[in-house]
Amino acid sequence: MVMYQKSEALCLRLIDFSESSQIARLFTREYGILPVIAKGIKRGRQTSANPLGGPLDMLARGQAVFVAGRGGADLATLSGWQVSDHWPLMRNDLRRYYAGALVAEVTMELLAALDPHPSLFDDLVVTLQMFGDAAASGSARVVAAYLKAALQETGYWPVLEHCVLCGGVINSDIVRFVPQAGGVICGNCRASGIAMAVPSLVVVALSRLPRPGAMKNSVPQRPADPQALNLALQILLSHLEGTLDRVIKTRALLGVVCGCGPAISSALEPPAAWTNLKGGFARSVVGGAGEPLHAPREDPA
Ligand SMILES: [Zn+2]
Repeated sequence: MVMYQKSEALCLRLIDFSESSQIARLFTREYGILPVIAKGIKRGRQTSANPLGGPLDMLARGQAVFVAGRGGADLATLSGWQVSDHWPLMRNDLRRYYAGALVAEVTMELLAALDPHPSLFDDLVVTLQMFGDAAASGSARVVAAYLKAALQETGYWPVLEHCVLCGGVINSDIVRFVPQAGGVICGNCRASGIAMAVPSLVVVALSRLPRPGAMKNSVPQRPADPQALNLALQILLSHLEGTLDRVIKTRALLGVVCGCGPAISSALEPPAAWTNLKGGFARSVVGGAGEPLHAPREDPA
């Protein structure tokens, strides 16, 4: 007997397979990343006799019905797909769409197939909702919040509050961040791998960045500094690439996502903006207001 399974899902990768079929990687709430084949999905409109209907779309959200592959290794077969959210604004704005492509790739790189992460799924839904909402936070800030949530969820969030090797407090304006060591290191410690010189203001801003859900509920009063966001995202992606030993291809889209021109070719070469740091720089990354950011502190929440 064929056993049908059902889950809310987001489509994160899509390739055409034959004239009428598609192969996709869905991020399902109940089962995690699920590779599926959708046979005949491009043939026509959705009817009761043809529950697959039209083709799958990148970054669409829907209800998936599928039959699991044998032994867990094969592709699952998609037998129904009901779209619930399509976020047209995100599709018609290159910056927002690139932001969506970036969070999709990071999610697929971080998660293994069939390993459920329902809270990260919810974070990604909120993230895409904000990309599709004209009144929401800027896309780059939302990308940073989602990357943080994804790295925390998978246990890869770097140590930023103190030296990752000796635990010592770091009191300097420029901090050495070593992706391969998993965080920042103090002046007395040595680590193998390439060190990035990062303004401590940016490190503090990253450690205070809220989850996407919290960001959705409190839109910041002023726009973020594109250069600061670009730098913060470069740091997170360098860390991710160093940790996974893989290249994040959509990193090339960062310049467009942040609204500051083409992407920096290598995050290991400090951009000119690093030498022009201003007091409100880090606050503009997290979008908060109030006291100046000098030293990390515990979030009262
Ligand atoms: Zn140390």
